[in-house]
Amino acid sequence: MTAIRKPVCAHKRIVIKIGSALLVDRASGLKTAWLESLCADITELRQAGVEVLVVSSGAIAMGRTVLGLAAGSLRLEESQAAAAVGQIALARAWSASLSTHGIVAGQILLTLGDTEERRRYLNARATMGELMRHGAVPIINENDTVATSEIRYGDNDRLAARVATMIGADLLVLMSDIDGLYTAPPHLDPEARFLEIIETITPEIEAMAGDAGSELSRGGMKTKIDAGKIANAAGCAMIIASGKSDHPLSAIDTGARSSWFQPSGTPQTARKTWIAGQLDPSGKLIIDAGAETALRSGKSLLPAGVRAVAGDFHRGDPVAICDAGGREIARGLSSYDADEARRIAGCKSGEIEAILGYSRRAAMIHRDDMVIT
Ligand code: GLU
Repeated sequence: MTAIRKPVCAHKRIVIKIGSALLVDRASGLKTAWLESLCADITELRQAGVEVLVVSSGAIAMGRTVLGLAAGSLRLEESQAAAAVGQIALARAWSASLSTHGIVAGQILLTLGDTEERRRYLNARATMGELMRHGAVPIINENDTVATSEIRYGDNDRLAARVATMIGADLLVLMSDIDGLYTAPPHLDPEARFLEIIETITPEIEAMAGDAGSELSRGGMKTKIDAGKIANAAGCAMIIASGKSDHPLSAIDTGARSSWFQPSGTPQTARKTWIAGQLDPSGKLIIDAGAETALRSGKSLLPAGVRAVAGDFHRGDPVAICDAGGREIARGLSSYDADEARRIAGCKSGEIEAILGYSRRAAMIHRDDMVIT
């Protein structure tokens, strides 16, 4: 079945990745007027009820301009230093631009482990969720000052895709100096044909990627296709669009050319498939009949419905959810460590803070982290 391409403004939660070349000019530094036009677009989307997260590249490009580093590739230490300098300027620019629209920006710097290790993943996700609950726009980048060449994403295309799957976005927009996918690299092949809709990322599509990167950005078309695979598998659509003109986001809905990658299934189905397929439960929660009814109607598991906790597990680990007879009903990722879970089992969510001294989530297992088995 072919999914219908919706306009950007018809999505619920979108991640926009901005390539370095769009934000930073080698000679003059930050492209402030362009950034302002983008922030006006973001404001419009938010007014239409769309939640927006930004993955912004440009720290290294910006920092190398400020530090006056020579053209060409940088040594690791140089790019780390450039990122340290550039990230401050970048974050300040986003914050200043968004604040003219009354929007607060929050900076999040991630390393590879923050998205790949489940507990850190949940932690980063909770922070993003909290920022969005307060109406702030998360401005995310890789923490390049501490990332080493072995332990890093290195490109923000895949990082943005992981962020999109992490927070259940329904659209990822990769904005760079290329307007989409062509059957061959367009600067090398005059016969190259533009592809507007990509239903599935087949090996043929991957072969078309070539390398359409520019000097300032590390991600070429290959990392964009990799990002598409990550996002689409999790039920998130992806758009590759050019950000060369002002108001690049609204331009997508008013007819500017872009490539759209169809998501596979619905986001929820994809996530549930992922949870069901990955889990090797390290613990067990025995729940009462009321909680079972709630779970079956799509609700989260609250501590009040938990009668007993077995096994040893940490926050973010997979656990089995069983009825009083020990029959497995569901699986999910626990919001609490086993010993915390034991202490709050049977209690009201409002009592968690008094018992533990802090509160993470009202739910023992959030419904987004759960699959009925
Ligand atoms: N994280 C890098 C930076 O901010 C950009 C990586 C990329 O170009 O994708 O400079």
